[in-house]
Amino acid sequence: MAGARKPVVEVRRSQRRRRTVSAYRDGERVVVLIPDQFSRAEETEWVDRMLARLEAREGRLARSDDELFDRATRLRGLYFAEYGDRAVPVSVRWVTNQNGRWGSCTPADRTIRISHRIQDMPDWVIDYVLLHELAHLIVPSHNARFWALVGRYPKAERARGYLEGVAAASGNPLGD
Ligand SMILES: [Zn+2]
Repeated sequence: MAGARKPVVEVRRSQRRRRTVSAYRDGERVVVLIPDQFSRAEETEWVDRMLARLEAREGRLARSDDELFDRATRLRGLYFAEYGDRAVPVSVRWVTNQNGRWGSCTPADRTIRISHRIQDMPDWVIDYVLLHELAHLIVPSHNARFWALVGRYPKAERARGYLEGVAAASGNPLGD
């Protein structure tokens, strides 16, 4: 979706601003806040820069299934290399119908689904959720062996804390 067409831009000049520029989406428009003293050239330059930045940020939201699969392949090579084909999924995809869980894995058909709700979370959190589901290809249940596999990921504890925090804040405790 990002970059499909040029948005309507509304530039707001502020006398209070000195050097800082910010931008946000407001419905169909993009509002760009710039310091009042900016020249026209600076305004044009900064509007372009802020639009590019916004699109880059939103591009993250449009992470594709292909990118997700590549990410899973990289993680598998890093952490589960010795399991060979056992840790290779048949498909890894984003899903929007999975509000109760961050990710899920069906070891029988080797498919992994990841909730769109984590799409804009930091890379290291997405990696944790993916690695967790990859580990289920090797050990289906949450036993000690499973957690030892997940524990190979250095930020596993931190990511779990992050996800628990998000779930608590939304008043919607989630499992995996
Ligand atoms: Zn699990």
